[in-house]
Amino acid sequence: MDADAASNLAAINERIARAHARFGAPPERVELVAVSKTFDAEAIEPFLAAGQRVFGENRVQEAKDKWPAFRELYPDVTLHLIGPLQTNKAREAVALFDVIETVDRDKLAGVLAAEMARAGRTLPCFVQVNIGLEDQKAGIAPAEAVEFVQRCRSVHGLNIVGLMCIPPDGVPPGPYFAHLATLGRDAGVGSLSMGMSGDFEIGIAMGATHVRVGSALFGHRPPLI
Ligand SMILES: *Cc1c(COP(=O)(O)O)cnc(C)c1O
Repeated sequence: MDADAASNLAAINERIARAHARFGAPPERVELVAVSKTFDAEAIEPFLAAGQRVFGENRVQEAKDKWPAFRELYPDVTLHLIGPLQTNKAREAVALFDVIETVDRDKLAGVLAAEMARAGRTLPCFVQVNIGLEDQKAGIAPAEAVEFVQRCRSVHGLNIVGLMCIPPDGVPPGPYFAHLATLGRDAGVGSLSMGMSGDFEIGIAMGATHVRVGSALFGHRPPLI
């Protein structure tokens, strides 16, 4: 077993448990989504060996290259899609992933629902909210989020379990997480995916049920070229 992977994982799990115990709201536990994007199978395997089973990837093709082989060895893996999804990749995404965190527009919701029906797979989904209303980020506008959740459920029949957001860089994330929590309450969803390596404890303090942690587990990602 890779000592670094096991100790990084233990340290992050400890920080999650401590933040959760300290700030103390439901849920019973906070799910760690280990974000393995850009890391190869060799880097991921020690985390599986150390017991981590929930992972996040942001690209369909990359997930297709890495995860089917791991699933043979670790059938209880749960894979979250945390990156933007194009409708022409929805079929593959439904086949490869267990949870879709990035439902953010009506057309995608419709195509995902059709592909899930076709595949006979009902995946839990999160609606991604562009909580800072930033041009460069995906997500539904906060003002439209509650209605969109309702529409995903009633028109498309999607199983929307939560909301997800990525707050703006360089400013304190707390108010954005608090806003997502309010929207989640208004929309009647139980899960909130918020918090990454630099701010997951703040996410937990604001009610996160899922934190998406990459570099604090795997190390720095090579810059995208
Ligand atoms: C890369 C990524 C993360 C993890 O970021 P770190 O800062 O490395 O923890 C979380 N969420 C999304 C949507 C990402 O793309």
